[in-house]
Amino acid sequence: MSDIAANLERIRERMKTACERAGRRAGEVELVAVSKTKPAEVIQQAVDAGQLLFGENRVQEVMQKKPLLPACVRWHLIGPLQSNKVRKILPLVEMVEAVDSLDIARDINRIAAELGLHPKVLLEINVATESSKHGFSADAVREQLDALYSLDRLYIQGLMCIPPFDPTPEHSRKYFQQLRTLRDELETQGGAPLPMLSMGMSHDFEVAIEEGATLVRVGTAIFGGR
Ligand SMILES: *Cc1c(COP(=O)(O)O)cnc(C)c1O
Repeated sequence: MSDIAANLERIRERMKTACERAGRRAGEVELVAVSKTKPAEVIQQAVDAGQLLFGENRVQEVMQKKPLLPACVRWHLIGPLQSNKVRKILPLVEMVEAVDSLDIARDINRIAAELGLHPKVLLEINVATESSKHGFSADAVREQLDALYSLDRLYIQGLMCIPPFDPTPEHSRKYFQQLRTLRDELETQGGAPLPMLSMGMSHDFEVAIEEGATLVRVGTAIFGGR
């Protein structure tokens, strides 16, 4: 077995155990294998081990790697999207996870209409309101929710966050709880379900699962350091 196959098996096992601890079914949480900076040959090893969903944070990398991998591979863009790249990326990915402003949401909506697409998106929330980070503040997303829901090409499926890095997984818990609470609030405000919560990375995905994650984005623990 390749290292990558062994890592994937271990992570799936840990995901399952975290689900059991939280009284959730294992099928409720999907693993996004974060393959940024890794070449197609390395990603192919994960595909061979049964992993079909990958996350990339740069448009250019998706464009390079997608043609080199089987068509059954699914891609999520997990990094920030600039308006001049929207047209290139929309046909290539299943989901844009990091919609971080009303402006980019409007650009995606307009170009999706031109291309005849209905992209699935998540709204990125700046949970710790760090000035250095992308994403909507909780206040901004509350204020702009109606405007976001008026963008009729977008399937807004939920929220994602990247909390401040802290090597102690427990320290991420309060941010994951905040994201879930905000999701519950926005569902009431908007009258529409927001079933997806993308949260948790290599060091804290188990805590994220305990707090309701439906997508965990794991890179280093699968592919090693970058
Ligand atoms: C790189 C990245 C990850 C994965 O981080 P690891 O610590 O390697 O698991 C998750 N989410 C986003 C948005 C990233 O850019």
